Amino acid sequence: MNDLEELFEKNREWARETEATKPGFFSRLLQQQAPQYLWIGCADSRVPANEILGLLPGDVFVHRNVANVVVHSDLNALSVMQFAIDILAVKHIFVVGHYGCGGVTAALHDRRVGLADNWIRHVKDVRNKHWDVLAEITDPALQVDALCELNVLEQVHHVCSTTVVQDAWSRGAALIVHGWVYGLHDGLLVDLSISAGNAEAVETAYQSALEALRERYAHEQRTPQETRRRAASNAALKAIGAVRAATPR
Ligand SMILES: [Zn+2]
Repeated sequence: MNDLEELFEKNREWARETEATKPGFFSRLLQQQAPQYLWIGCADSRVPANEILGLLPGDVFVHRNVANVVVHSDLNALSVMQFAIDILAVKHIFVVGHYGCGGVTAALHDRRVGLADNWIRHVKDVRNKHWDVLAEITDPALQVDALCELNVLEQVHHVCSTTVVQDAWSRGAALIVHGWVYGLHDGLLVDLSISAGNAEAVETAYQSALEALRERYAHEQRTPQETRRRAASNAALKAIGAVRAATPR
């Protein structure tokens, strides 16, 4: 059996098991999809939206690209957002970065990777905008983590600034945009506390999350890494618990 045939075999096994444990699962999904969540995350193979949230097919609408960037003129991302908000009526958008992101690391260190340099340029803009925060961090790994988080804050701000989200809010849609970061090392999500549910809330949420980040990294660069991440994990468990509780089975 060649490698690809093995994938088809795994697929058949998965379909059999899913139908056996949830009879009628596929025929129900065939009728409609009604996800409550839009996930905008990194293309990194280690950050799969459904698995991380413990959700099934049909539960989360997903857009992924290198370093979870949302550019105002990116018709691909905008189309996904517009469909998710206007047609599927999702209630939450999660912008999800991850620690140790290769795209973010390349941006931080001006590392050339190829065509993607032009895409990563957007993350370099984030680096330059917040260089005052990053320059204070002496631990190189911590500096990458900080830029991963700063990138999430900026991309949340971009999402909130799009015509798609602004229009949804102006017609009173119940839509909340969140910024999270995922730990490859422990599989946990951290809520960066930048959630905004209306146009007026965005600037305050952004500024307070930025200030919290600045204070945290100023303090945490003197704290052993494992201690820091254990503390962050507590917030992560709360965030993921809220999502699971809000998902009807
Ligand atoms: Zn990444």
